[in-house]
Amino acid sequence: MKDLFFDKATGIHYLCGSKFQPMQIINHQYQIQNVAVLDIAQQFGTPLYVYDANKIVEKIDELKSAFPNVKLKIKFACKALTNVSILKLMRQNGVEIDVVSPQELQLALHAGFEGTQVTFTPSGVSFDEIEAAVETGAIINLDNLNVLEKFGQRYGNRVPCMIRIKPNVAAGGNAKIMTAHEGSKFGIDIRQRDEILAIVEKYNINVVGLHQHTGSDIKEAEAFVKAADVIFDFAHSFPNLQIIDLGGGFKVAYKEGDYTTNMPELGAKLSEAFLKLSETLGRELQLWFEPGKFLVSEAGVLLVHANMVKQAPGRTFVGVNSGLNHLIRPMMYDAYHHIVNVSNPETESKGTYDVVGYICETDTFAKDRELNEVREGDILALLNAGAYGFTMSSQYNSRYRPAEVLVYNGQAHVIRERETMDDILRNQVLLEL
Ligand SMILES: *Cc1c(COP(=O)(O)O)cnc(C)c1O
Repeated sequence: MKDLFFDKATGIHYLCGSKFQPMQIINHQYQIQNVAVLDIAQQFGTPLYVYDANKIVEKIDELKSAFPNVKLKIKFACKALTNVSILKLMRQNGVEIDVVSPQELQLALHAGFEGTQVTFTPSGVSFDEIEAAVETGAIINLDNLNVLEKFGQRYGNRVPCMIRIKPNVAAGGNAKIMTAHEGSKFGIDIRQRDEILAIVEKYNINVVGLHQHTGSDIKEAEAFVKAADVIFDFAHSFPNLQIIDLGGGFKVAYKEGDYTTNMPELGAKLSEAFLKLSETLGRELQLWFEPGKFLVSEAGVLLVHANMVKQAPGRTFVGVNSGLNHLIRPMMYDAYHHIVNVSNPETESKGTYDVVGYICETDTFAKDRELNEVREGDILALLNAGAYGFTMSSQYNSRYRPAEVLVYNGQAHVIRERETMDDILRNQVLLEL
């Protein structure tokens, strides 16, 4: 197994493989914080999302410790996992929050955040939403010129704000990423810097931060460093600037051998450039990140029950009591989720399976996947399901969304009840016909 991959173009090492940690087998059973996963499935039923609080805290510490020399703020991009108990856990560990809708903002307040701890980073929303967010004290990331103009007209310099830049990382990047950046709907294109500055000057807008978030890709570290350069450079144009926000998008390992962002090295490189910027500007800036996936992906598993094992010529299907209604990433992004057979952890007997959901359309979690022999009634765990799992779930096929459990201090706690028929019928109106 290679453990380091060195990218000459950027001078960044990617960690390889060594980061993927499947669930632990201890005393012949899968455990999360010494709690047997089978017991959790039995106690709370399936399908079930289970999150490990320790894992989340570990990831927070990993990010913090990569940036020991800068004023760092972590803003959890909560669209990855919005359960209010998770948000509270973030808050208790010194993490603040990034929201993309008024409803996420309300959830943040419900979890105990102050409005001032919230960043609102909307994309193409109506100005009403921005005004409502300003009322709560949240800081707004403005992402188009018209809204910047409106913000200036409405608030002048009374309300600090941030501007979301699309850095159009060019040289050396791979063509796929470049296109994604050029064609991306997010942020104000850096080539419009003069227009930005004209509006800011016209209304004397109090720009305290510059923001960029380029999304997730395998070469994200490269984009980070290059994009950071673009906004570091632009920072000189804003005398009140206090914040550089580099968004999220850190890679996590979904399987053995995946490249992940090498946090210590990224931290060292970015910190150096960042401290130099602070020095040139003559004031100490804050560095913000908005990780979503990085903080919660590995903490979560989706537990499902094998309803059927169907032998067909040349293929064996395992049908489980879940589907794209609960975890859409495999069907939507071709995402790989590692699967373990929780009920059969140590057997020598293996099989190759298509693990499929119970939704009435093609609904495949895994194709040709080698698993420990699966028998009807076994419990399977889909790993790395903490981010964009529950939050992208739906009631498609009028099925209930799963319950959620948080393992905290060695104990499993329900943090969301399973839905019932009332939830399916809520807001439906049966007409008198
Ligand atoms: C989605 C999002 C993030 C988080 O992205 P991850 O890939 O989950 O880290 C961060 N910032 C903004 C503005 C986002 O929309």
